[in-house]
Amino acid sequence: MRKFISAFGFSNTIGFIGLGNMGIGMAHNLAKTRVVYAYDVSPAWQSNIESSNIKPVNQVADVAANADTIITMLPNDKIVKSVAQEIFKKSKKILIDSSTISPYTSYELAKMAQDTQNIYADAPVSGSVSEAKLGTITFMVGAEKELYEKISPILKEMGKNIFNCGKIGEGQIAKMCGNMALAIQMISVCEALALGKNMGMDPAMLSSIMSVSSSRCWTVDTYNPAPGVMPNVPSNKDYDGGFMVELMLKDLGIGIEASRLSGTDTQLGQHAYQIYNKLNEHLGKKDFAIVYKELIKCK
Ligand code: NAD
Repeated sequence: MRKFISAFGFSNTIGFIGLGNMGIGMAHNLAKTRVVYAYDVSPAWQSNIESSNIKPVNQVADVAANADTIITMLPNDKIVKSVAQEIFKKSKKILIDSSTISPYTSYELAKMAQDTQNIYADAPVSGSVSEAKLGTITFMVGAEKELYEKISPILKEMGKNIFNCGKIGEGQIAKMCGNMALAIQMISVCEALALGKNMGMDPAMLSSIMSVSSSRCWTVDTYNPAPGVMPNVPSNKDYDGGFMVELMLKDLGIGIEASRLSGTDTQLGQHAYQIYNKLNEHLGKKDFAIVYKELIKCK
C-alpha cells in the first residue's frame, strides 16, 4: 500500500458521497477543477447542482467504479461504515471521510481499509454551511505524513485551514473536543442573549458589545443565535439550513463516550447533551442555535 500512496498522483476525477447541507458546497468547490462523481441516498440534492462537472450516479458502487479517491460527508458512524464497506469491495481506493464520527470508528475504518488493500484518512471539518460553500472550512486530518501530502491539495480546494494532526483518528479527536466546547459556548451565549432580551435589551446591541468584550467568541460574532442580528445565519432563516440539533447531539454523544473511556470529567459537556437531547424531541432538524428561541419569554 505504501507503494500505492507513493504512486498516487493528481487525478481530475473524484468521488463524493453525501451531498447534504455541507457536502453540496464542498462538491461544488471540487467541481471547479475536477469531474465529481456524486451520490446521495436522497435524490433531492440533484436540484441543487450548479456545475456540469458534477455527475450524479445511482449508487456507491458507481462512485467507486469511476473514482479512486472518494470523499464522504455523511450523518453518522453507522452510515459511514456501511458506505465504506461498499467502497472497500474494490481495492486501491483512497477514502477521505469528512463526516464527524467517533475516533474509535476511525480506528475500525482504518483496519477495514488495511484488510481490503485500501487507504483511509479521517478529515472532519469545522465551519458552517456558508463556509463550506465559500471554501473556507477547516480540515483536521488524521493521516501519516506521506498520505497527508498526497491528499492535502484536494482538501485545499474545499478549505482554508488544513491541519495534519498526525495519526489516524486524531482528526476526529480534534473535531470531537472542538464541538464539545462549541456546544457549551452556544448554550452560554444563548442564555446571555436571552437574559438580556427577556429584560428588554436589544440582542443586536448586546451582541455588538459582547463582540468586542471578553465574552467575544464565534457564536457571538460569526454565528449569532438571535434572529435579526446577522444576515445569512440560520437564526435569520427560522433556524433552517445549518448544523442540526440532531447532529450536535450525535457529536456530544461521541464526546461523552470518549470521556467515559478516557476517564475524563466533562460535566458541562454532559449538561449540554441533556439540553440538546430535550430539544431533539421536537426540533432535531433545526439549527443548534435554536436554544436561544426556546429561552425567549415572548416568542
Ligand atoms: P446533512 O444531513 O445535511 O447531509 C448528509 C447527507 O448524507 C444527506 O444528504 C443524506 O441524504 C446523505 N446520506 C445519508 N445516508 C446516506 C447513504 N447511505 N448514502 C449516501 N448518502 C447518504 O448533514 P450535514 O450538515 O451536511 O453534515 C454532514 C456531516 O458533517 C455530519 O457528520 C456533521 O456532523 C458534519 N458537520 C456538519 C456541519 C454543519 O454545519 N452542518 C459542520 C461541520 C461538520
